[in-house]
Amino acid sequence: MEQDYEFKEVSALECVKCGRELKDKRSIERGYGPTCWKKAQEEAEKEKQSDS
Ligand SMILES: [Zn+2]
Repeated sequence: MEQDYEFKEVSALECVKCGRELKDKRSIERGYGPTCWKKAQEEAEKEKQSDS
């Protein structure tokens, strides 16, 4: 019996932050759209700085 496992490896088709549809593979792998990815990076940097 055949089943549909085509998209099993894809983690997210929508941005986890704003829910926007992700169209390119990179964004889908990240789970963020380009804009939200940038913001997420900036926030991560801030946390690094405030950590020390
Ligand atoms: Zn987003």
